[in-house]
Amino acid sequence: MSEYKIDTRLWSTKARNLMPYTPGEQPRHDNLCKLNTNENPFPPSVKVAEAIAAELAEQATGLRLYPMPESNNLKQSLAETYQVQPEQVFVGNGSDEVLALVFACFFLKERPLLAPDISYSFYPVYAETFGIEMVQIPLSEDFSIDTDDYRRPCSGVIIANPNAPTGLLLSLDAVSKLASEHPNAVIVIDEAYIDFARADNGAQVSAVSLINDFDNLLVTQTFSKSRSLAGLRVGMAFGNVSLIAALTRMKNSFNSYPLDKLAQAGATACLQDTEYFEQVCAKIIELREAMTKGLVGLGFEVLPSHANFVFARPKDGNAAEIAANLREKGIIVRHFNAPRINEYLRITVGTEAQTQRLISALQEMQE
Ligand SMILES: *Cc1c(COP(=O)(O)O)cnc(C)c1O
Repeated sequence: MSEYKIDTRLWSTKARNLMPYTPGEQPRHDNLCKLNTNENPFPPSVKVAEAIAAELAEQATGLRLYPMPESNNLKQSLAETYQVQPEQVFVGNGSDEVLALVFACFFLKERPLLAPDISYSFYPVYAETFGIEMVQIPLSEDFSIDTDDYRRPCSGVIIANPNAPTGLLLSLDAVSKLASEHPNAVIVIDEAYIDFARADNGAQVSAVSLINDFDNLLVTQTFSKSRSLAGLRVGMAFGNVSLIAALTRMKNSFNSYPLDKLAQAGATACLQDTEYFEQVCAKIIELREAMTKGLVGLGFEVLPSHANFVFARPKDGNAAEIAANLREKGIIVRHFNAPRINEYLRITVGTEAQTQRLISALQEMQE
């Protein structure tokens, strides 16, 4: 790749000025302990491979034909699983694509989009791509979100909940407050990690339960994390029928078939295996608590995570150095060289064996 010299002479100004998102790296070598991109360490439900194999075996109708443009079966299953109407569901090629369409549909207006200063780093990239003004609202000192800071004119608000990379959870009361205070702005809650979140009193944490109360609330989720299907590329949004209609219009002005037949079949089958899904989520939560304990034992400060990763600060704040040392031992974690968070590491919750390997490696470094 690098021996080619890229000539931008024929590029549009827009293509020249883009600052693309940098995905976490996907190195492939043996015995790597990959704790950098929040993938699930457990395999997807066996029903997924069965459904995909069945789809492939359909000689007459299978891959020869285009998929259902609106993924109707998948939407129907999602509607049943999440107890909403199929018209309140939108699906896309990963929630990244859903989010891109959200930005294209709702935020290009006179007033700016509001987002936390520390959050999913794709948001500013989409804002740039679609020419949207985005104002970043600083998180509080303890990295929490204070919804009072969002009381200003805006086209919309986008918040990851649980937030990434902090892992902190915003209460449903706070989400309701945001939605009711901004009746003319679209409030987007990116729930990529919500299945790993639990309220202290066992109450509901997903804002999908609020979409019938607020016509300006849109909730996005993904099969990539809690359902172990990052490689299948399936994401969804839940919201009022009018918001969903806008997304469908935008999708059909760009790509009518974002979900291929295998993805539609696999994701639909995945939803049928509730028991396995719940088991995996519970196991990740258990492993997250074990990882937190191990890190605290080594002097790390660990934020209370509601996700499948922890955000942790080594006691000397030498996060970059620790990330480099871990890499030499074949353990990859994520370090963000950004203001306020450069003394932290984001570490994906892995299997029991991976967690042990991480903790032993950190222990060795301290000896
Ligand atoms: C992983 C992630 C996504 C994207 O998920 P895909 O469905 O794989 O595109 C979106 N938002 C946040 C906050 C994420 O961490």
